[in-house]
Parts: sequence; C-alpha cells; structure tokens
Amino acid sequence: MSSMSPFENAMKQLKKSAEMLKLEPWITEALSNPQKIIDVHFRVKTKSGIRTFHGYRVQYNNSRGPFKGGIRFHPNVDIDEVKALSFWMTIKNAVCNVPFGGGKGGVTVDPKKLDKEELEALSRAYIKAIHSDIGSDVDIPAPDVYTTPEMMAWMADEFGKLRGKYDPAVITGKPLDKGGSIGRDNSTALGGVYVLEEAVKVYGIKEKTVAIQGFGNAGSWAAKILHERGYRIVAIADSRGEIINPEGIDVVKLAEFKEKTGSVLGFPGAKQTDKSIFETECSILIPAALENQITSENAGKIKAKLILELANGPTAPEADEILKGKTIIVPDVLANSGGVMGSYFEWVQNKKDERWDASKFDKELKTKITEAFNNLYFTSNQRRITLREAAYVVAVGRIADAMKGEKNA
Ligand code: NAD
Repeated sequence: MSSMSPFENAMKQLKKSAEMLKLEPWITEALSNPQKIIDVHFRVKTKSGIRTFHGYRVQYNNSRGPFKGGIRFHPNVDIDEVKALSFWMTIKNAVCNVPFGGGKGGVTVDPKKLDKEELEALSRAYIKAIHSDIGSDVDIPAPDVYTTPEMMAWMADEFGKLRGKYDPAVITGKPLDKGGSIGRDNSTALGGVYVLEEAVKVYGIKEKTVAIQGFGNAGSWAAKILHERGYRIVAIADSRGEIINPEGIDVVKLAEFKEKTGSVLGFPGAKQTDKSIFETECSILIPAALENQITSENAGKIKAKLILELANGPTAPEADEILKGKTIIVPDVLANSGGVMGSYFEWVQNKKDERWDASKFDKELKTKITEAFNNLYFTSNQRRITLREAAYVVAVGRIADAMKGEKNA
C-alpha cells in the first residue's frame, strides 16, 4: 500500500496542475477542501437487531454544475477515501465536459454480510439520512463499488416518498424499468474500450493481450467487450485471488462461473496463481478494483505497455513516477469516464422525459469520450506531459474558469 492516503495523493495531483497552470492561489486554496461534508450515523433494522451505520456524502465542488458521483458500500469506506473520490469526480466531470461538479458518497459496511432485505433497508436509511442535501439539480448520486442498479431504484423511490414526488433524475444508474437508460450498465467499460482503441492506435501498440484486476461491473464488462473485439484476456483477479491462462480466458463462461460461485477462483478454463496480477506478461493492464493498488513496490514489475485505469485512483503518485516514460497510463478520470457520461445521458433523458435507443446512446458515448481523449492527447504532446498531467491541466483549468465566473468568488 502507498504510504499516503488517497486524499493526500489527490491533493498532490492538484498542486502539480496548479503549478503548471500558474493558478491564482485562492483557486488552489478553494479546491484543496470539499465545499460540504455530510457525515451521518443512521439506524437500520437487521436480522441481528437494530444496527447503527456510518455514512458520508462529500460535495466537493459545484462550480460547473450539480454535485455528481457514486455511492460506495465497503468496509474500508472512511472520510479520507470519500473526499478523494469526490475530488476525482470533480476532475473527471470536467475532463469529460459534462455539466456537473463532483461529489461522492459511501457507507462503511460489508454488504456481503447483509441479505437483500437488509440491503434495501440500508439503502433507504442512507438516503433518508442525506435526502435534504441531494436533488436532481443539487447532487445526483449513482452506483459505485458494491452498489447496484436495484439499490439505486430503492434510493430513488425512498427519495420520492420523502419529497412527495418521484423524480427519477435524482439518481442515475437505475434499472431500465425505473427510468434507467439503455447502455448505462456497461458504459464505464465501453467508454474505456473506446479510449483504449484510440490509445493503442496513436501509441502504436499492436499486441492485444490483457490482464484485469477486478471482475465486477467495470472489469467483467471490459473483459467481455474486449474479448468480442479480438483481445486476448490472459489473467483476471478478484478479491479472492488471480487466475491465468496465456492462451486466453473464456470470459463469458467465467462470468457465468462467478455468478454461480461468487469468485473467479476454481474456474476450469484457467490456472490459479499466487503471482500478483500486475506482474502478468501482457501488453495492456486494466486495474478495475480499488484505489492505491499500483504502488512503488509493484510498479517496477509491470510488463504491460499501457495501463487503462478503469478503477478510480489505482496508481499511487510514487508509482506514477516509476512508470513515467516506460508505460503509458490512460488515467482514471478519462478511462472510466464512460460511467458518468452514461449517467449524464440518463439524467438528460429523465429531465426531458426522453428514451434513447442503444445506437443513439452508443454514438453519443463514442463521440464524447473520443473527443475527451483527443483533447488530452493534444495537451500532453503540446506541453510534453503525461496524459494524467494533461487531464489535470485541462480539468483544473475548466473548473477555475467556472469559479472565476461565480458571483461570490
Ligand atoms: P464492483 O463492486 O462491481 O467490482 C469490484 C471488483 O473488484 C470485484 O470483482 C471484487 O472482487 C474486486 N476486488 C476488490 N478488492 C480486490 C482486490 N484487493 N484485488 C483484486 N480484486 C479486488 O465495482 P465496480 O463498479 O466494477 O468498480 C470498480 C472500480 O471502478 C472502482 O474503483 C470504481 O470506483 C470504478 N468505477 C466504476 C464505475 C461503474 O460504473 N461501475 C464507474 C467509474 C469508476
């Protein structure tokens, strides 16, 4: 693990871009803290009795539009992590140029230890605790690690009951029959693949072998889409371990296997290994699990030519330095921005009472994310900086422009 906390990492990235942009100090100061932290303890009736849970919603910055970002249910959720994630959302929404600021929420809980009824009670109680601070023009949550479309439906329903009117645009990532959008379920992965295809073209990467850390929403969809497009998935890790097959893993069968058994381990079409996923012989590495996974300890062992960061914050700044000039990193704020672009399309449809078809959604996603990639690629060449540095320069520049335009600034 990195010695720095995720939020310290995030602030390091902010300072670097502030220097490159020669940002006025008041802007850097304002961006060094979230605008608002909502910190709640709330009660939930579970099978083992009434329990109190700790939850957060961090509203980092809304200069470019309503706060927007997912909700995470995970035992390691703490205020530092949620702050970092909300800062990254602010940057990401500016990189992909959707009219949103950044926010993030989370509850410290192991959702695997709760049954469906308890998860529904938890989802509803969390929204009840934060409802006065969210709304379709104020702060719009979405799913993140270990939260699902079904949970989003419970939350949107609870919000509607509390406000006396159902407003689907308050939460994105909902199921289709509850105002969700076609294409949103795999938009993070598909957006990542569109970016990857541009990146391999411009950086001349011919070999198509891939290792993926994480086989949840982002990782398993990425595996499936890449498999369909002729990439060979040679290794996959989940929270329980890693499997490897240099000939290629049948990811469709693996998804069915994981659905039944709860893990990728024991899959007959691959071997279990104790080696870290990051040491795999492959040309493309996709971290799609949690933050701070690529560190100064393992960065030197990475053999991939390109890292596509589907997870948020998977690479610690020290690791970034080690990989500079050696491995191309397509940064999280671009690589996984298909998720929030999909959320934006869902929100637009809810607001205008429209229903897009799959081809419209796909066309909008491809156009918008390719434009974002080209913009960062251009900036990185022009300033001779990495794609991550370019992302921060572009995003912080856009946020600063919006802040300068505010009346109270
Ligand atoms: P998820 O809960 O669906 O899946 C997480 C996966 O990571 C699971 O397969 C789990 O087994 C695995 N995992 C957890 N700890 C691990 C470890 N130590 N080693 C290996 N694997 C581990 O979550 P998700 O929605 O796919 O999100 C994954 C990452 O992508 C997160 O960083 C999230 O913030 C980011 N992301 C997701 C979306 C989205 O739309 N789902 C959008 C943007 C960013």
